[in-house]
Amino acid sequence: MSCSLCRLPFTPSPVSISPRWPPNGTLTPAQLDYLKFATSFGTTPGLVVPLQFCDSNTFGGVNVPLPIILNCQWEDEATHRTMTVMHNRCFGLLRHHLDLLDDDDDDEITDLALVDEFLGPPAGGARAGRLPSIDYEGALGLDGDRVDLESLWSPGSGPGMLAFDWARWKELGLQWTADRSDRRASPLLFRFPKFNPTVDPARIPEEPFTPATDIICRQPYDILYALFPFLSDASFVKLVSTCRTLRRFALTTLQPHARARVIALGWPLPTGAEYKAFVASRLPPGPGATPVREWRRNLEMAEKELSPHDGDWMLYLCKVYKHPPMARTRRWIWALASQAARVWRENMEHSGLYAVKTKGADERRVTPCGGGRFVRTGKWDEHKKKLVACFALRGMLHMMVLPQCTLSFGIL
Ligand SMILES: [Zn+2]
Repeated sequence: MSCSLCRLPFTPSPVSISPRWPPNGTLTPAQLDYLKFATSFGTTPGLVVPLQFCDSNTFGGVNVPLPIILNCQWEDEATHRTMTVMHNRCFGLLRHHLDLLDDDDDDEITDLALVDEFLGPPAGGARAGRLPSIDYEGALGLDGDRVDLESLWSPGSGPGMLAFDWARWKELGLQWTADRSDRRASPLLFRFPKFNPTVDPARIPEEPFTPATDIICRQPYDILYALFPFLSDASFVKLVSTCRTLRRFALTTLQPHARARVIALGWPLPTGAEYKAFVASRLPPGPGATPVREWRRNLEMAEKELSPHDGDWMLYLCKVYKHPPMARTRRWIWALASQAARVWRENMEHSGLYAVKTKGADERRVTPCGGGRFVRTGKWDEHKKKLVACFALRGMLHMMVLPQCTLSFGIL
């Protein structure tokens, strides 16, 4: 019952027959509700399927009239492995890193179904759900926190019945790992800090009457530009806060530099799907009002192409580091997803399922995964042919045409 990306448990759905709830007060009601939802992907049960956790080694369907109508066994006793299942927040970021985002594109779904070949298969037993190729504990690198959730799992009474030590998790101060990093409880409240498309003039200090004479401010701007990339974000923000001259410089000329820092980090910006959802939550301009592109430029969510390059990126850079759901939770899951995507692409190259794109290659066979570098091969076509039954099942699940039958799955 662990997510294969973050390794946290799923919380039981109220429809579970024998739920094992976290101790009272360990999670907020919003976390309890959110962490029960999952997405499975791979060949079992039907490519990309939304699920809810029902405990006792099972997941039930979401897009079906009753969760028991689709019932999936998570860990298989015979093969000693699990399905690949992730929290929705985790799966969303992995898909973003893989550039496989289109649910209506059968070829992209076929690419995603290769998770076992490139990342798995997930372990069973005491480490059930863990992908062998991911360094979970060291995801944040040498300078980041070491997040060890593996040591909190212990074997249970049978397949899929692992126990998670919630009390110890709380003692270790790891509650932040269960935060939802994209939105608050309401789908209309986004976690992203507000972005100011224009710099508030009141924040820009007036030009000093006498030029600053310290060793930094005496340097030509070209020298400062050459120096800044060597500074960490924290050092950069501290340096430009040291005097009025540098602060004015940062809030005017240097805004594109702060924007480049935000883009390089990645995690402070919404994915395409998140941005689309945010835009959908706002009232678009009426006829004759501001043009849509101009309206989007002035939205209070940062977007790397649409938001003005001279907006207040300095303020946004400072805000994201002060906002724990972003600077801790999202940064951590982002790092895990980034690592998984890197391993995925490394393995693509040697699988025979893809070939490095050469001049004159058929553009229709290029996969978005890999930044346009790979084309699908004949071996990939053979893989797709084997998924005919999975696609048929996926179609049935998505049309919600299962009111009168019960389906149960083991691992194929
Ligand atoms: Zn997760």
